[in-house]
Amino acid sequence: MRIAILGDIHSNLEAFEAVLRALENEGVERYFSIGDIVGYAADPLPCINRVKSLCSFIVAGNHDWGAVGHLDLEYFNEPAGDALLWTAGVLDERDKHYLRSLSLTYEESIGGWDFTLVHSTLDRPEEFKYLVNLQSARKTFSLLKTPLLFIGHTHVPVFIIEEAGEIKCLTANRLKLARSMRVIVNVGSIGQPRDRDVRACYCIFDIDAGLIELKRIEYDIKKAQVKILQAGLPTRFATRLAEGW
Ligand code: ZN
Repeated sequence: MRIAILGDIHSNLEAFEAVLRALENEGVERYFSIGDIVGYAADPLPCINRVKSLCSFIVAGNHDWGAVGHLDLEYFNEPAGDALLWTAGVLDERDKHYLRSLSLTYEESIGGWDFTLVHSTLDRPEEFKYLVNLQSARKTFSLLKTPLLFIGHTHVPVFIIEEAGEIKCLTANRLKLARSMRVIVNVGSIGQPRDRDVRACYCIFDIDAGLIELKRIEYDIKKAQVKILQAGLPTRFATRLAEGW
């Protein structure tokens, strides 16, 4: 069985559709999302609808909660907050209720692999802190009850591996799992990559092979940019798509 974990879509329908087209040839049977379906770009509704119909489970991202008043806009910088107010204006009550209902963590077991989903960290996930150093990784490992954890939030794909008491970061596009490891996988961002690679990033977990891959796919950046500008969203959210930052 192969599963896909979708990260930080951020209302970028062009990127999301390109990923879904690529996934059609991957033999994926189940989909999960680590949240931030909305925010930044111009297509929150179709992104919500597709994630909803596709995914077995979706955990809440800070933008999902920010758009529906579940997380104070003080948390965000001003342009991100503006984009969330714009997003709130195009969602109806049913969508808002849906985003509000998303929970912060989820545990699943498939084919002998137990894994957890959270948007940011397991250390007070409702605060949406950034897992960016050894200290925060160690804290989250100490709270992790499964061998595997899938996260997003930084928009930078990476494997963080704990083995024999040591923690190391691995920037690679695939990892063959060993039972001696515990691993935090940042699945990267579909809608707004920030690792200087402009292509949409997504994660496939081949359960039978014990193999996790972080893949990239090109998409129509220009089209997504035009939509952001036409919607009157902050210009920076259009330009950064072409910078991968
Ligand atoms: Zn995000």
